[in-house]
Amino acid sequence: MKAEIIAVGTEILLGQIVNTNAAYLSQYLTNLGFDIYHQEVVGDNEERLLKVLDEASKRSDLVVVCGGLGPTEDDLTKQTVAKYVGKPLVYDEEALAHVIDFFKYSKKPMTENNKQQALTIEGAKTIQNNAGLACGLFYEKKRTRYLLLPGPPSEMKAMAEDGVTPLLREILPNHTKLVSRYLRFIGIGESRLVTYLKELIDNQTNPTIAPYAKSNEVMLRITAKCESEEQGNQMLDVMEKEINQLVGGYFYGYGENLTMEEVVVSLLKEKQQTLTVVEGLTGGLCQNRLTDIPGSSSVYPGGFITYSTKSKADLLGLSVEELESKGVYNQQTVEQLAIQGSNRMKTDYALAIIGIAGPTNEEDQPVGTLYLALKTPTTVLSETMIINRERDYIRDGAVKHAFNLLRK
Ligand code: ATP
Ligand code: MG
Repeated sequence: MKAEIIAVGTEILLGQIVNTNAAYLSQYLTNLGFDIYHQEVVGDNEERLLKVLDEASKRSDLVVVCGGLGPTEDDLTKQTVAKYVGKPLVYDEEALAHVIDFFKYSKKPMTENNKQQALTIEGAKTIQNNAGLACGLFYEKKRTRYLLLPGPPSEMKAMAEDGVTPLLREILPNHTKLVSRYLRFIGIGESRLVTYLKELIDNQTNPTIAPYAKSNEVMLRITAKCESEEQGNQMLDVMEKEINQLVGGYFYGYGENLTMEEVVVSLLKEKQQTLTVVEGLTGGLCQNRLTDIPGSSSVYPGGFITYSTKSKADLLGLSVEELESKGVYNQQTVEQLAIQGSNRMKTDYALAIIGIAGPTNEEDQPVGTLYLALKTPTTVLSETMIINRERDYIRDGAVKHAFNLLRK
């Protein structure tokens, strides 16, 4: 079932306000099971609104119009839609009583144009506004339905979540549901991931696969259109298995907002083991992220921020001369830092992160070069990589890839 959204308001066209209503409504309608193919913005102008309504009515089953339901001259949505469907506007008794009550209660004079907020199209279902004054409405003409919602986001949302959902569910075939799952991957770029999944993506119908490139990681959203949550989850299980066979090695967890630090902290809690961090170019970013997780103190006692060579030596009991003689940026140094970190802090694990965030190359090594090490109770793992991006991206990558060593 196809739905589209028309936001009415010259101020949106001029860029004075951001069209957050369309973003909200698109997500809301998609979650209910509608397909969204178009969004439009039109100014407070009857002729242009009529034109857009006509286009929308020809290609969509549901036309959602938001904004312009208020009492002022430029609020012309109801009149224009009424004109388009060829019906008069009439007062809705309940909505009118609500407007009159509002002014009585707040002891403010009510003007004639306030009554306009209680107008509805003859034959429409009125949607009462519990967060404001102007009522919304739902009108069906042959195969096309019109849903009119107020512009103020709080009123629009309250109405959508309250009165509108049951009306829309009624027109959806088989009560279509959408069930989504978010899979997160690290250590692989979006283009390589998509290449490995090409056949699956090319042949997708239901469930669908949508890749999202994130900073130093990739997220896949898989979505099943189904009749029940249980059926949707079964469909997603099958799809996930196929994805795992191709790129499962890079998968690190589920969730639209999942982070590597959450994964690391819960892993350590499970093992009842502790971690310290020695970090150079990330200047505390890694430890900041660990301490963002409530309860991380049971696995992370503290660590070291060693930005300069001198501080690396001083804080970890190494010699500046020795560090400088063999160069700071190499595998041996980073491993040494991890070992010293775990010795000093007496933790089961220690991560060390050093590298070159820029702006200039150092020790003849390019900006973006990273050396990462993890001291475990039994061994030391290390990894070298070059991230050819800007400073923030390099530092974020250093932290995420360092955390990823704990999953190896
Ligand atoms: P009112 O009764 O307040 O006049 P209305 O239904 O007539 O409501 P508009 O006049 O179009 O709605 O917009 C009122 C306010 O709502 C705008 O000034 C703006 O702050 C907000 N608004 C309107 N449309 C949108 C939109 N598409 N996205 C975000 N905010 C919006
Ligand atoms: Mg208005």
